[in-house]
Amino acid sequence: MSLKSKSSAPGAETILHGEFGAFPSKTTRYALSLTVLELHVQKLVPKPEDDRRTVVSLSEVIGCHTLRSQVGSSTAAFFSLYSYPLKRRKMGMGKTRHRTVQTFRVDCNESYAENHAIAEKWATAIKCLLAGVKLSTETDITSSLLPRSQRLLLLVNPFGGRGQAMHYCHTFILPMLTEASINYNLIQTERQNHVRELMRDINLSEWDGIVIASGDGLLYEVVNGLMERPDWEKAIKIPLGILPCGSGNALAGAVNFSSGYDQVIGEELLMNCTFLLCRHVISPMDLVSVTTGSGQRMFSFLSVAWGFVSDVDIESEKYRRMGSARFTIGTMVRVASLRTYRGRLSYLPTEEGVAHRPMSKSVTICANGFKKLQRKPLQRTISDLGICEERNVLFKRNSTIESTNTVLMEYSPSPCSPAVRHSTCFNFEPIPEGSLCLNSMLPNGRVPATYRENGYIPAEVLGPPDDLLNPLDQPVPKNWVTVEDDFVLVLAIYQTHLGADLFAVPFGTINDGLIHLFFVRAGISRAALVRLFLAMEKGTHFEQECQYLTYVPVKAFRLEPQTQKGIITVDGEQIEYGPLQAQLHPELANLITGVQRVRPLMK
Ligand code: ADP
Ligand code: MG
Repeated sequence: MSLKSKSSAPGAETILHGEFGAFPSKTTRYALSLTVLELHVQKLVPKPEDDRRTVVSLSEVIGCHTLRSQVGSSTAAFFSLYSYPLKRRKMGMGKTRHRTVQTFRVDCNESYAENHAIAEKWATAIKCLLAGVKLSTETDITSSLLPRSQRLLLLVNPFGGRGQAMHYCHTFILPMLTEASINYNLIQTERQNHVRELMRDINLSEWDGIVIASGDGLLYEVVNGLMERPDWEKAIKIPLGILPCGSGNALAGAVNFSSGYDQVIGEELLMNCTFLLCRHVISPMDLVSVTTGSGQRMFSFLSVAWGFVSDVDIESEKYRRMGSARFTIGTMVRVASLRTYRGRLSYLPTEEGVAHRPMSKSVTICANGFKKLQRKPLQRTISDLGICEERNVLFKRNSTIESTNTVLMEYSPSPCSPAVRHSTCFNFEPIPEGSLCLNSMLPNGRVPATYRENGYIPAEVLGPPDDLLNPLDQPVPKNWVTVEDDFVLVLAIYQTHLGADLFAVPFGTINDGLIHLFFVRAGISRAALVRLFLAMEKGTHFEQECQYLTYVPVKAFRLEPQTQKGIITVDGEQIEYGPLQAQLHPELANLITGVQRVRPLMK
């Protein structure tokens, strides 16, 4: 059945060729040719003038599965290709992503076993190419070529955004992960800092990535939990992923942009980010350490904000049910009663100086030998790894997560063997029951983090040293610049986006080694401030030439508020109000971005 042919152009040689039927149509037939980059689909028609070819780029494909007909006597085998191409919108500008499933019927042999072997060969070849396994016409394509399936720990905040994260898991995220043959364990968070605690104790070697379905705040917890581990240097390298289910989805906006996609919000952004997650390309990401007057140290991947931005973020909490629209309402309220804050801002400009940039139909067949999706009510934890079916997870600190339940998806890969099942369970340190108290020593001798009235006190100050900073009670180094003034806002940002549709740093990248420091001085009119934020949607705020706005790329900064009361946020999370300083640590973390692409600087 599989004819192999050679072609001269690189990447164009045909690895597999075959003729198959279609599904659900019983009469249509196709000739398929698979190359390293594309699947060529030629419809077989009696008249040559009706010649119809389509080319599916493998860059748009997330997975391929073999399937079996539910009609008992059928000897045909099937394979389905799941792709998510970007298509022009019918109305409006730009492109939007659509799910496309193409199912082919292998029916040239009399026995199911022979047809299944061919379907399996095609699915394996496609999955190998998606995973970056080199194939040629000479390769003997067997499942042994396939790398182990990815295992992701998926952390879902049911409180994030409008509280729809679990709904999105059902409708987009879990089906797409299953199509991409990615295994996952899903945990719903129960409270603030739950994930932060979890990160300190889990066995990271069991996961290929930690992915959050929430806003930026939950990833902030993940990053800081990892940095509180004694093995922080290794732990922080685990690939991190973000699926935008919150109200502030800045990092998701940045990931979407870095992949070259149009700026989108809501479900379109979620679809893009889930697609990118399935492609699982890793890019290094800068982190910034932030130290406060009380000696707390935290790690930030997004921003430090004081004044207008942090006021809007925190004061709009009460409109949380509105999703990201809460920021629009919050902005209007805060503009109406514009505040200014006195303070001192010091910074270390980059050596390059102030480099100013102006400014389906559903298929009724099911996976080989596996049950259809069991629509069980979702539990607090879900796994498709076939693991932890018993009540065998002992969570510390009286967590109420008790068990994980297996949900077999329609196309789920084979369940693990009992041995694998055991080893992929959460590896929490076994703590004897009764000793689960906040201030007890952990078995490894570490003192766990504690909560005090004024917030979270990290167990230890870990992480790389801040070699650019003087202690907060000493003057800043001589080569720093200091501005003392009345400010409307100070914003230090190290991603391109401040929100999914706030394109704050059009020339930035996830690892440009820069803190982009913005400040707006008192005196700006309300109208000019609104104009700035409206322009930020398209990233054209530098073109406003607003004399009150200053932008400077820096490596480190210190903020000393002199106004008694105010709000400071790190990655959208409120921290103690008072002096702080921060320094950039280039490429400390790794982010799942999906596409390796560095944007050229905007002129
Ligand atoms: P959003 O963008 O909607 O603000 P975030 O991811 O920033 O979403 O999360 C908001 C806050 O919710 C964060 O402070 C996070 O720590 C907290 N959080 C996480 N899980 C829970 C939970 N189960 N219940 C309440 N708050 C939670
Ligand atoms: Mg948030």
